[in-house]
Formats: sequence, C-alpha cells, structure tokens
Amino acid sequence: MKLIQCWIEHPIRKLDQTFAYLSDVQAEQGARVEVPFGHGRAVGFVESCTDTAETPEQLKARLGFSVKKIIRVLDESSLITPELHDLALWMKEQTLSTAISCFQAMLPGKVKPISSKQKILFEKYVRLSQETADLTPKELEAYLYVKQTGEISYHDLRQKYPGQAHALVEKNAVDIFEKEKAAQDHPVGSRSLPFVLSDQQKRAMEEIEGSEDPVYLLHGATGSGKTEIYLQLAEKALQKGKQVLILVPEIALTPQMIERVAARFGTALAIYHSGLNAQQKYEQYRRVMNGKAEVVVGTRSAVFLPFHDLGLIVMDEEHDASYKQENQPSYHCRDVAIWRGKFHHCKVILGSATPSLDTYARALKHVYHLVVMKDRINQSLPKVTIVSMKDCIRHGDSYILSEQLKQKIHERLVRKEQVILLLNRRGYNTQLRCRKCGEVITCPHCDLAMSYHREEGRMKCHACGYEMIRPRVCPKCGSSEGFLTLGFGTERLEQEVHACFEGVRTLRMDADTTSRKDSHEKILAAFGRHEADILLGTQMIAKGLDYPNVTLVGVINGDDGLKRTDFRSCETSFDLLMQAGGRSGRGEQNGEVVYQVFDPDHYAVQCAAHQDYVSFFQNEMLFRRAGQYPPYTYLIALTVIASDQKYADHLALKIKNEISGNFKVIGVISLLKIQDRVRSRVLLKGKNLEEMRNAVQYFIDHTDADLKGLRIDVNPLTLD
Ligand code: ADP
Ligand code: ZN
Ligand code: ZN
Repeated sequence: MKLIQCWIEHPIRKLDQTFAYLSDVQAEQGARVEVPFGHGRAVGFVESCTDTAETPEQLKARLGFSVKKIIRVLDESSLITPELHDLALWMKEQTLSTAISCFQAMLPGKVKPISSKQKILFEKYVRLSQETADLTPKELEAYLYVKQTGEISYHDLRQKYPGQAHALVEKNAVDIFEKEKAAQDHPVGSRSLPFVLSDQQKRAMEEIEGSEDPVYLLHGATGSGKTEIYLQLAEKALQKGKQVLILVPEIALTPQMIERVAARFGTALAIYHSGLNAQQKYEQYRRVMNGKAEVVVGTRSAVFLPFHDLGLIVMDEEHDASYKQENQPSYHCRDVAIWRGKFHHCKVILGSATPSLDTYARALKHVYHLVVMKDRINQSLPKVTIVSMKDCIRHGDSYILSEQLKQKIHERLVRKEQVILLLNRRGYNTQLRCRKCGEVITCPHCDLAMSYHREEGRMKCHACGYEMIRPRVCPKCGSSEGFLTLGFGTERLEQEVHACFEGVRTLRMDADTTSRKDSHEKILAAFGRHEADILLGTQMIAKGLDYPNVTLVGVINGDDGLKRTDFRSCETSFDLLMQAGGRSGRGEQNGEVVYQVFDPDHYAVQCAAHQDYVSFFQNEMLFRRAGQYPPYTYLIALTVIASDQKYADHLALKIKNEISGNFKVIGVISLLKIQDRVRSRVLLKGKNLEEMRNAVQYFIDHTDADLKGLRIDVNPLTLD
C-alpha cells in the first residue's frame, strides 16, 4: 500500500494542511488525485507518496482516524517541477496564503488542482502500421507521404489526400492514435539582426556581463535601447542552450515588444498571457515543460512556467502595477522572478525608465546592481510644456483643451504627423449632481459616484461595473430640475477634439472601446497605419508604444492622480507623466509633450517635465519618510471583506486586539463599500517584515475566528 499526503482543492485556511489517503498505485508529487472528502469528493494535489507496511487498522490505531482510499489518480506524471513545488511553499510563507492557492495560481486552468469540467484536447494522428496492404497508386502516394513524415495529424492528411486518407485507415495501412493537441510554433515573419550597440548600451552590457551579481536594475530613459539589451543578453543565453523569460506588463498594450522578440528569435518563442484560452495556455505550458519553447514573452503568470534551465529573466517596466496579483495569493511577480533567478543561477534584469521607489532604493543600497542609461538612442528628450489649467479657466478658455495644446495639435495635423492625447478617465462626465438637492448619483452597490457614458446613454460604476439608464429625475429627491455635469472623460475629450478640428480622424482606446478580444491590437495597428491622426485614451496608451510619426503627446488633467489619498498616488502620477513623454518623438523628428495640470509647481509634475527621475525619487522619499511609508517600512494589510458589517467589524477588531509585536497596528479602518461588500482593515506597519509575518501566521494558526472573509496583502501596492 501507498500512503499519500495531499493538499485539498479548497483554498480555505482551515484546510491548509495535507490530508492522508491510501492508494494501491503510485502517485507523483505534483499530480492530481481524486479523493473522498467530507460527504463528497475533491481534487487533491499530491505532496508525497510513500510505501507503507502498516495495514489500514494499524494506521487507524496510530493516527487516530481511519484513512480512506483515494478514488483515482488523475495525472500520470507530475504537473510541476520540483522547483515549482518548492516555490509554491515559499510563496505560501511569503504571502501568508494557503498552499493550494499557490499551486492553483501557478498552473494553467486545464490542470489546476480544482474540480472542473475542463478537458485536455486530443487529436487523431496516423502513422504506418505493421501490416502490408494492397494500395492504389494514389493511395501509395499518400502512404509514402505518411512514411516520410513519420506521423501526421489525421486532419492534415485528409486535407492533403481527401480521397485516400480514409482508405489507408480502412485497409489498415496506417494506425490511428491519439495525441495531445499541441501548440504550433510561432510563425516566423521577417528576421531582424541585432543592432550594433551604442556606446551607452555597450557599457551597460559590459557592466551586466562582467559582474556576478544576481539582480540588476537597468534604469534607462524610454528609447534608450533597453529592449535591445534584453535581446542581446537573451541571444547569449540561448547560445548556451538555456531558456529565457521576458516578462511584460500587458501583452495587448505592448505588441511591438512581441514583434521585436519574434523577429529576433522566430519559432523558439512562446507567448503567454491572459488573452489565451485555457487550451492555448496549457499547450504553451507543455511546450515550456518539454523544452520546445526557448524564449517566453509573457505577463505575470508566465513567471510560473516550468522552465528546466533558465539562463536569463527580464522584467520590463518593472514598476508596473500589473505585476502584483490582487487576489490571494497576493504575490509580486518580481519576488518570484528573483527567487527563480536564484534557483537557476541566472541573472534577473529589472528594466524601467521609472523604477518603483522600492526597487530604486534597493539599487542604491547595492541589493540590486544599478546600471544607468541616460540618453535616448536617436533623439534628445522631448520638449515639455506645462500648461496651468487654473490660468486657462481664469481667462475663460476651454477647461478641456488649452489654446496652447490646440495650437500644437493644429501644427501636427498640418504636417501630417500624429498626436496622442492621454486622459486617465473614461466616459463623458465623471459625475452628475442634482441641481436641487446637490446629491451626486452614486452606485447602489458601492460608495462611489457613477460616470455618465453619453454614447450609450448610461451611468456606469467603474468599480463594480453596474450600469443603469441615465435617470430623468433625481434618485434622492425626485426633482426633475436636471443635473450638473462634473468632470470629463475620454468620450467628452473626443467630442471636444472633433469640435475643434473639423474632419480630424480619431481613435479612442479605453475600457469601453476595448472590451472585445483583439480590440487593443486593432486600434493600435490602425493608428500605426496612420488611419487616424489622433489616438486618445486612458493610461493604457501610455505604455510601451513606439510610433515614429507621433511628435506630440498631450496629457489632460495630468495631475488628477496627485489628489488621491494613497501613499503611492504621487509615484503613479509621475510614472504616467514620464511614460507619456516617452511616447513622443521616437522617430526622426523631435517630440513635444504638453502637460495640462492644475498644480504646475508640484514636484511630480516638475520632475516629469525634466524627465528627472532621481530628483523625483529624492523628493518623494522625504514624504515616505515623514509618513513612515515603504520603502522605509513594510506594510501588511489585513482586510476583511464581507456582506455582513458585524462580521467584518468583529473580525477586524479581533485581529487588531490579538496581533501585536514590535510594529504598529493601525485600525480598524473602514473602507468604501464595493459591490455590496463592506471592507474593514487593520494595517501593520514596521521595520521587520519577518516578525510581522510571523505574528500574522501565529494569529491564523491559533485563532478560533472564522477567517473566510480575510484577505492578506503583504507589501500592498495601494491602500485604496
Ligand atoms: P527602450 O526599450 O529603452 O524604450 P528601445 O530598445 O525600444 O528602447 O530602443 C529605442 C529605439 O531605438 C527603437 O526603435 C530601437 O529599434 C532603436 N535602437 C535600439 N538600439 C539601437 C542601436 N544600437 N542602434 C540603432 N537603433 C537602435
Ligand atoms: Zn436631488
Ligand atoms: Zn458599483
């Protein structure tokens, strides 16, 4: 008999331990088994499987309960590598989550340890049989074709020999067998050769290659040629027969990155991102596992692919918030990347023009090796103009497009150059306020104002997605005096642009225009073909786009984010302003940028205008120190999310009272209601993260409270 220890599929803290089962057959660590559990069945994820000489009775006597038999083994071989197994258990400790949730986060949907109906797809294949058959000349031709290819999918054979394929099977000339459907290689377009490196790039390469340090921060201006460095380092890793992982924030928003990697490496490339369906993800997972994929470009979850011999990990735009998973386990991709780099003894390159403050602070302390590239490859940095909207409004100008920006747009349109306008709000108006009672229309499910979307004639809640028709009378007082419209979004901006420039061709890119699959790519490609003069949209257009014909970028309400209350809102606003600047003047012509802001003297605005990251860092660090925020301290956010206010308050208070140590316990903080769920939070803040983690783990292990509404976020990115 075998004794199996396995984790159970339910990510509940109470069940966060392995359960013992008996089995007649062997099961590998990291394979799934079906087991009886409670009154039903569950999927288990095998931790260990050992021979036991004890009889079930002896086991019962020793363990104090009767050990049940598993129902069946679901996977013949392990779904993960021993490395990934250890990584999951490490993540469990780091993020204070359940082990099973870590395994689930790692695996593609088809093979997640979870009860689901998902099936791995199989395809029919044929190969020559041992039999001899009497064939017609045409059938013989098909037969020889099969012989030549070794094995071929039945579908393909039928395409090529529609009249003969079936006959070959009937006559037993070929055998049909089933094979897992596998991903096709990425088609190779035109291949590109490496550039001759600039002096600055050469220095950066030498510094990275000449050092034994494990982690590098490549701090390079947008357009300084970081991507070329990634590609050349990747090339060298491949030459040594190793695999390469290139992490990017969002595939849909960085199509040019993929094109460049594909053009350099061709078929050895795998692309892994949330836009793939479950089968495609699984196929790519297998390609990496069996070594067919040598270079992977992927988003956050690609960091869990089953590489066997990594030679390089690149994390582009390392500051991007999409690298942090919000759900449990709330891990940061950077931490996982560095862990894997250590395991594979390979270098990890974190690249950004605006590194996260935490990363840059670590680089200054030599935890990461800092490599700097100040200059753009082709161009000087763009010229930035700051327009004070307070002045504009005082002069009675438009509060949407200033005269200066209009003038500059006009020049571009005349010269047939392109313009990007960035406004980080969608919809038409951000609020409607009753003229009579002054109440703002809020979402019935959240404590938030709803936006007005004029094209659809609807109100939308951007937090929970709730929509309703624009009301005719005030929902609060019933007055029909109408509403004041406040704030504006991309829809309103687009209308303004058309009002100012007759016949202008615009494309809008925001969550409203990109809900369908591939819509990002379509919009960006159309803009690339110059089918529009102006691309306008939310922050999704600020990322790694590279259009040589764009010579002007306007940021509307550029300091909107500075008003927010989160400790990182300055940093994200600064990033956005800097990234926007990076989109302009990437071709022959020099670029220009206009920031329309209400607080032109704010250091985030000023530093972005001078493309001066280091000054921003120094200024911002003063505020972080004054408020004792990261990177000066560590935070753990313990948030209870529930439909029941009493439960939330009770548990939060219990946490506050029962967790203590050499750190601050702040709270209970009541957060805004979202989607009919109240949120109560306790925040731990201190210098010793290990101690804070241990205190939380101790609480989890010893409390009698029901923890099902508890979300734990170690090193939260925002506290909103
Ligand atoms: P980053 O990733 O830092 O934004 P890129 O690698 O995209 O910078 O480089 C900016 C532009 O310069 C791209 O169009 C790229 O093709 C080009 N480029 C990069 N390195 C070189 C080089 N050594 N010689 C010529 N052009 C280069
Ligand atoms: Zn009213
Ligand atoms: Zn809502």
